Amino acid sequence: MPKPLVITADDDEVLDIELEEDFLKANEKMAALNRKTFDRAGVKVIDFMGSIGSGKTSIIEKLVEALKERYRIGVIAGDTATAIDAERIGRHGVPSIQINTGRECHLDAPLVRKASKKLLREGVNLIFIENVGNLICPAEFLLGSHERVVVVSVTEGEYMIKKKGDIFRAAEVAVINKKDMSVPMGIDPEMLVKDAMDANPKIKVVVTSTRTGEGITDLVKALGL
Ligand code: MG
Ligand code: ZN
Repeated sequence: MPKPLVITADDDEVLDIELEEDFLKANEKMAALNRKTFDRAGVKVIDFMGSIGSGKTSIIEKLVEALKERYRIGVIAGDTATAIDAERIGRHGVPSIQINTGRECHLDAPLVRKASKKLLREGVNLIFIENVGNLICPAEFLLGSHERVVVVSVTEGEYMIKKKGDIFRAAEVAVINKKDMSVPMGIDPEMLVKDAMDANPKIKVVVTSTRTGEGITDLVKALGL
């Protein structure tokens, strides 16, 4: 088969790249400050990244149920417009804050600083952050979290991880979710596990189903909780 022509943008060819670098640097500084604040307060913070519909909220709900007796949990849910996720999590009896980013497709460190201040005042010692549903730029915007988790589901197709390797390299833990759908989708979750390990040999990979609860205990362990 003839190879298609591929055009790759050089750094200086992408519009506003310098502007973006300044933003990223400013964000990194604020992320470092966030981390200091979290460490001083003795709070562990975990950032969940993944596409819309991968199951980030469901995974967080399962973790809240598994851990709410042992930790004082708070949740920050990022979305462009709705408060659906914070409402879902609020039903589990833990404080949850929604951040609406408008046109921005990721959370950034200043937004997380604002929201986490409110949670710290409520005395939490574990914060789950649900990033905006997107597999590209959340990888670049550090928030000050101790761990980053990327959630991908078998319903997203077999090439998801191969195409989005950067976010797997930026994360400590990968969740392959919706295992219960692997037969109807005709996708072997172990193949996705292998793709994640190929992208980042150091990543811990857990296969889950929020429907059956499979893998949630393993995920708790992988997160050191
Ligand atoms: Mg969600
Ligand atoms: Zn973005």
